[in-house]
Amino acid sequence: MKLRIGVLAAALVLPFAVASTTSVAQARPDSTPYYWQVPGGDEHVLSEAGFDVEHGAGGPVQVVGDQGVANRLMGLGYRPVKYDTVYKQVVASRAEVAADTYYGGYHTVTAHENHLTSVAAAYPALTQVFDIGDSWRKTRGQGGHDIWAICITKKKAGDCALNPNSAKPRFALIAQIHARELATGELAWKWIDHVTKGYGTDAEVTSILDTTELWVVPIVNPDGVDIAASGGNQPLMQRKNANNTGASCSTPSYGIDLNRNSSFKWGGAGTSRCGETYQGTGAASEPETKALETWFKQLFPDQRGPGDNDVAPVTTKGVMITAHSYGNLIMPPWGWTWNANPNAAGLAALGNKMKAFNGYTVVAEGDTTGTTDDFTYGNLGIASYTFELGSGSGSCGGFFPQYSCMDSLFWPKNKGALLTAAKAAKAPYAS
Ligand SMILES: [Zn+2]
Repeated sequence: MKLRIGVLAAALVLPFAVASTTSVAQARPDSTPYYWQVPGGDEHVLSEAGFDVEHGAGGPVQVVGDQGVANRLMGLGYRPVKYDTVYKQVVASRAEVAADTYYGGYHTVTAHENHLTSVAAAYPALTQVFDIGDSWRKTRGQGGHDIWAICITKKKAGDCALNPNSAKPRFALIAQIHARELATGELAWKWIDHVTKGYGTDAEVTSILDTTELWVVPIVNPDGVDIAASGGNQPLMQRKNANNTGASCSTPSYGIDLNRNSSFKWGGAGTSRCGETYQGTGAASEPETKALETWFKQLFPDQRGPGDNDVAPVTTKGVMITAHSYGNLIMPPWGWTWNANPNAAGLAALGNKMKAFNGYTVVAEGDTTGTTDDFTYGNLGIASYTFELGSGSGSCGGFFPQYSCMDSLFWPKNKGALLTAAKAAKAPYAS
């Protein structure tokens, strides 16, 4: 069985060999989504035209969609090339995997909430769980969720307080702000388990928890994850939150892109209501964004001046990583401009230390406004990075990698990078 899966994984990297190997493609031929390479396509032009555009990771830009989307591209003069399937082979049936999971093992929002509750119960001396705000649906009385954060450290008096003047430096990891980027929430889960189970047995983890507070928000966008998970073995392509105010978009195109909604330099591209990068009606208009920004300000003092060129000093404390998929990238700010940020050298130096573990390319974001890491670096001065987990193709690629890729690829590659970030929290710009 293992061998057969390996052979299939090898086949999946070859375009055109893919469609016939998956039962998904045969079951729903007309609406089956693919990643299409679009030679000559411009990310912004296509995005504003309503296409779901992704990083080409060195190659042409990619558009996600079915044959109808490809037809629209062809109508505009492009020649899209089918690159890979969106859905990979689901190895285990839903009945064979744990409760509250989907697509071969990915955890639902409920599973993540139960996980935090059980970790807090098992490790009371190391952890504290916080409700940092409400999802959009919860604010509207339409179900929804609290947004949960966990603080992990060897607790002393005054630790894990929502107060920026903490005794210990802090490393914050957030995940699934984009719901369909499934590997990110699972990475946060494994990180939480590693640092709680390792205290007292793993010297590196013990040292980190004795000196540092680790904060994790495994799911920033729980409404979106509910929507994605509702597809079961064919997760829905929900990226944004669930705000459907004034939208007449097809599911799952409504919502606000929470990674274009932050209050730092908000505005610019992303004005199309049904577009995947829709920025919202105003800076931090969404409850999820407000919750995150309030929480960041409670964790970190403002350590950088207000000017675009003000340097965060070498004494700055604090690191933030926001996990996304995909592209095998470590991206420091800025997003709002291609100009280098005033701490570019320090951010690149720490980025390269993390790259030593995951092998990702360190490159500034550029061309995105209202991102989380622009907010945390721009407003507060802390070292901030977007991680883009995984490649664009193959059984471990794209938004929906096979669940086994968490153990075979994503966790082993990123564990060292996260530990490096945690150890750097005390002085991220002093390399
Ligand atoms: Zn993302």
